[in-house]
Amino acid sequence: MEQTFIMIKPDGVQRGLIGDIISRFEKKGYYLKGMKFMNVEKSFAQQHYADLSAQPFFAKLVDYIISGPVVAMVWEGKDVVLTGRRIIGATRPWEAAPGTIRGDHAVEVSRNVIHGSDSVENGKKEIALWFPGGLAE
Ligand code: ATP
Ligand code: MG
Repeated sequence: MEQTFIMIKPDGVQRGLIGDIISRFEKKGYYLKGMKFMNVEKSFAQQHYADLSAQPFFAKLVDYIISGPVVAMVWEGKDVVLTGRRIIGATRPWEAAPGTIRGDHAVEVSRNVIHGSDSVENGKKEIALWFPGGLAE
């Protein structure tokens, strides 16, 4: 079954949105396969966002991700990568529809609450990076 990597970013944790976010994925019908609450190192955040290393906002993005604890999760279910991105909403919160996580909870692109894998292939890579010990059966 398809899996995706979802991370609640430090602002989402600090603002008390963990329950709301988990609830949205649960109510949709997805299955939580793995979850951990953790702080990440700078080099790890750089690796997670390696594809964006040439962007002018890269250093700021990395500092944001390491600014506090995050919740790393793997969710499973039919079309979970694309549907998960729809539940999250557009990258830029002013373009995110009301009813999406970013549409309901964010105003700044640099503090947009949550990450979701953008393809099945990248999801596999991110799950391997964040859950190197694998997931429980
Ligand atoms: P994510 O990968 O975090 O799920 P995304 O796939 O919607 O987000 P990406 O293009 O992968 O968007 O950008 C990764 C993250 O970089 C964004 O979620 C946002 O936090 C940050 N970011 C993107 N554009 C900007 C920008 N112009 N200024 C500051 N931060 C930005
Ligand atoms: Mg992305």
